[in-house]
Amino acid sequence: MNKNPIHVIGGGLAGSEAAWQAAEAGVPVVLHEMRPVRGTDAHKTDGLAELVCSNSFRSDDAQTNAVGLLHAEMRLAGSLIMSAGDAHQVPAGGALAVDRDGFSEAVTNKLEAHPLITIQREEVPGLPPADWDQAIIATGPLTAPGLAQSIAEVTGADALAFFDAIAPIVHFDTIDMDICWFQSRYDKVGPGGTGKDYINCPMDKEQYLAFVGALLEGQKTEFKQWEGTPYFDGCLPIEIMAERGVETLRHGPMKPMGLTNAHNPSVKAYAVVQLRQDNALGTLYNMVGFQTKLKHAEQVRVFRTIPGLEDAEFARLGGLHRNTYINSPTLLDHSLQLKSRPGLRFAGQITGCEGYVESAAIGLLAGRFAAAERLGHAPALPPITTAFGALLNHITGGHIVSDDEPGKRSFQPMNVNFGLFPPVEAPKSEGKRLRGKDKTVAKRRAVTSRALADCREWLGLPSRAEAAE
Ligand SMILES: Cc1cc2nc3c(=O)[nH]c(=O)nc-3n(C[C@H](O)[C@H](O)[C@H](O)COP(=O)(O)OP(=O)(O)OC[C@H]3O[C@@H](n4cnc5c(N)ncnc54)[C@H](O)[C@@H]3O)c2cc1C
Repeated sequence: MNKNPIHVIGGGLAGSEAAWQAAEAGVPVVLHEMRPVRGTDAHKTDGLAELVCSNSFRSDDAQTNAVGLLHAEMRLAGSLIMSAGDAHQVPAGGALAVDRDGFSEAVTNKLEAHPLITIQREEVPGLPPADWDQAIIATGPLTAPGLAQSIAEVTGADALAFFDAIAPIVHFDTIDMDICWFQSRYDKVGPGGTGKDYINCPMDKEQYLAFVGALLEGQKTEFKQWEGTPYFDGCLPIEIMAERGVETLRHGPMKPMGLTNAHNPSVKAYAVVQLRQDNALGTLYNMVGFQTKLKHAEQVRVFRTIPGLEDAEFARLGGLHRNTYINSPTLLDHSLQLKSRPGLRFAGQITGCEGYVESAAIGLLAGRFAAAERLGHAPALPPITTAFGALLNHITGGHIVSDDEPGKRSFQPMNVNFGLFPPVEAPKSEGKRLRGKDKTVAKRRAVTSRALADCREWLGLPSRAEAAE
């Protein structure tokens, strides 16, 4: 075996997990963390895996919640982040919340004590040198400027973003297609299109004016002082567009031109909200041009007033944040490796996932993939039916890259959610079809039990039945 270590840059959620997984596989690791030599705008300590804001890993329900499922899969895979989280949990109902200091200290102690891990407190100022033949960049949303600039040079400036501009994403099966219809503007087919690529939600004048009023009145989140105000043309939040005049949205993302309501062809809509397919599975649709700083609860309230979205369930809500991340679907291969530089992987939030748990999960995969290569094996990819595989697929291939909005980046960060999994048939109860909430819960249970069985198989673990024998 090549005895060179794997270099992990960044000792946050992803880098800590990546280092642990690689070392547990028997491969030496050097973990480079710049704190306390250099800080970030959000970190306050020099601990590894510091939680910069909330202390919650969100729901721990592995049967009906996608992030709870990811917890369970990470536990099966021997996750350091999950074992430290479990050991330092504090009461939080169905969520897994942790004592942030105890958690970070536990991660730091475990990594420091591992015989195969060396921790170097230093900033890595640019891309890893050529003799670091296996390296993982896990420097997060606040990557130090020198390294960020080097990443932009190797990926192309357009491929590295410093802010996200997130439009909400809706689960397709919660859109009322008796009100909405499929049609591209002017029936334009476009590359790879069919002329029916968008879902359209029609509004009359009264509905439009009420909607604009709700946007103006809705509560917004503020930028943090260090974030600045990253508004640029082509990417304004909808509420800022609404502030510019009552007609602005109707001439922008909500313009009704070139669209005929299939359910009511003789009546021209006054305004139209469009949703575009977001993933290859066709389970998720994003609200075109609807990036917003409205508070999450306000988004749900206001967007459910849109005709056809009254019962919409959101896989992701909108936002604008400072966030360093790369255009992973075009840059990375399926094992998180930069296509233009084999041996260099990315992990964590910088790949375009969102959240502590998701960042750690992608770190877990990157650590395993790099270790496998170091040991002379091809990385074994998790099946797309698992939470690991569904999230990895969003980052490296599942998202449909759209180029019909010049200047905008269609790939935006995302939490794990059920829309990323291949759908299942809703199970029946006593031979009868389920409806409403019962149907949703039954489908989720079917997805999670399939995921856990497939995850066990991927990890080479006995099935639950075998383990119980
Ligand atoms: C302000 C803010 C608040 C957030 N709040 C939440 C929240 O409440 N809940 C949630 O789930 N997610 C939250 N996130 C999103 C995300 O989950 C976290 O940022 C998460 O920590 C990302 O994990 P990571 O490992 O990718 O990056 P990080 O945990 O940030 O780790 C990156 C590490 O790399 C180090 N580093 C950076 N550049 C270099 C370099 N050149 N050389 C060496 N080391 C370097 C940093 O010091 C840091 O320790 C928040 C993000 C931000 C920015």
